Amino acid sequence: MGEAISYICKKCKKENTILYGIGFLDSPSYYDNNNFKNLINRSIEENIQNIDKLKNFVTLKDVHLRDGYGNDAYICPNCKTIANKFRYELVSNNKIFIPKYKCKYCGNTLRLKKENEEFNIICVRCGSKDFEESTIYADWD
Ligand SMILES: [Zn+2]
Ligand SMILES: [Zn+2]
Repeated sequence: MGEAISYICKKCKKENTILYGIGFLDSPSYYDNNNFKNLINRSIEENIQNIDKLKNFVTLKDVHLRDGYGNDAYICPNCKTIANKFRYELVSNNKIFIPKYKCKYCGNTLRLKKENEEFNIICVRCGSKDFEESTIYADWD
C-alpha cells in the first residue's frame, strides 16, 4: 500500500501525482545488488546532480542503504513546482551520501518538502496557483 497526493491545476487540468513510501520492488537487496547499480540508474533517471559523488561513494567500504528510504516530494524553490524523487541515504562508517536532484524545468536544485510544510505550487503549464488536492491510498506498483 502506498499513499499518493494528486495535484490538479484548476485552470488547465494538468495533473501531478506524488507518491510516498515504497513499493514491493524497493527492497534493500534490489538496490545494493551489483554495487548499487539499480540505485545509480534510478538516481540518474530522476535527474541526480551529484552523480560523480554517488559513483565514488559506492566504492567505499561497507556501504549500505539506510532504513527509511522511499518516494517523497521535492520542491523547486525557484519555479515552485513539486516533483517526485527517491529519498535515500547511503552510509559508510561515519560517512553519508544524500542525493541532490535537479529541477527538470529550470535546472535549480530541488529540496525535500517538509512533511507539513505549506507550499504554494505554481502550475508549470499555465502559471496558475489554484490546485485541487486529493489523497489516494492504493497499490501503486
Ligand atoms: Zn495549469
Ligand atoms: Zn525549477
